[in-house]
Amino acid sequence: MKLLIARPMPAEVEARARAEFDVEIRSETLPLTRDEMLQALRDFDVVVPTLGDLFSAQVFAEAPNPRCKLLANFGVGYNHIDVDAARAAGVAVTNTPGAVTDATADIAMTLLLSTARRAGEGERLVRADDWQGWHPTQMLGHHVTGKRVGIVGMGRIGQAIARRCHFGFGMQVAYQSRSAKDLDFPAVYTDDLKALAGSVDFLILAVPGGAETRHLINALVLGAMNPSAILINIARGEVVDESALIAALQVGEIAGAGLDVYEFEPAVPQALRDMQNVTLLPHLGTATEEVRTDMGHMALDNVAAFVAGHALPNPV
Ligand code: NAP
Repeated sequence: MKLLIARPMPAEVEARARAEFDVEIRSETLPLTRDEMLQALRDFDVVVPTLGDLFSAQVFAEAPNPRCKLLANFGVGYNHIDVDAARAAGVAVTNTPGAVTDATADIAMTLLLSTARRAGEGERLVRADDWQGWHPTQMLGHHVTGKRVGIVGMGRIGQAIARRCHFGFGMQVAYQSRSAKDLDFPAVYTDDLKALAGSVDFLILAVPGGAETRHLINALVLGAMNPSAILINIARGEVVDESALIAALQVGEIAGAGLDVYEFEPAVPQALRDMQNVTLLPHLGTATEEVRTDMGHMALDNVAAFVAGHALPNPV
């Protein structure tokens, strides 16, 4: 059984992979090229791909009858893999749910607080040695405690964010999801995204990417938001129509945005980089040593189950 891991991994994960499998660990940190994906499907039994490795229907069409039978994705989001095309080619797909939940919720709160309280702007001011000193109207931001938060996608991460907002910051939680949830904290469900957008101070996105949610946040939804409201996206860049977001920020339709993900990442539009009221992170949601190690073990658990002929723990 030959295993390909598409990126360098935390040391513990690489050590386990080398101990348990005949593994090749790719040293580059950039996504697999088309040719590398075709080679991976032809020459390996299992591949551990990750974000950016675009296993599209086209790639599967170009590699008929692949040797590869499992893509054990490193990450909970798998919108870079055409799962239907994989299935049709006889390739199973797994992911790493749960391991990422708290860290990603923490980054959502980092973005919410940083954007509301102008932390990025303030840090830039201090670093530029431009700070003139404290005064009563210096850099007034948006109060967070007790405010209204709307969560789009009340799954594992959405609920972890909601818990932080409710228990940590006394916020009033409302949400939109495909279905209402049975929650152990107060949260108001609506199936009307525009109504939710118009009724909150912070709108946080926690839905999966993919065709179903592409541009879910468009000019209409942004237009429904309050001019004092802030949009936070830790989901996938394509969930937001980035041009519409830039336009909404430029005309003051919304007050700010906190972004961990981008429609065409790693490209981040100059217009966003020019705005002080936007917090920009380089997709840091799960970026802690512990979480990336847990994710790696989870991906390898799926590989091990496949090799042993057991049911896959995390099929998608
Ligand atoms: P999850 O448990 O599957 O939750 C996703 C939620 O989105 C579910 O509640 C689902 O509703 C809802 N949803 C799906 N399609 C929807 C739609 N069209 N409209 C409204 N709601 C919809 O997934 P998760 O573990 O929370 O992860 C969510 C996503 O976060 C991942 O897919 C990934 O793309 C992203 N993520 C980002 C980072 C990062 O580094 N920034 C890290 C981890 C994950 P139902 O429950 O009603 O079906």
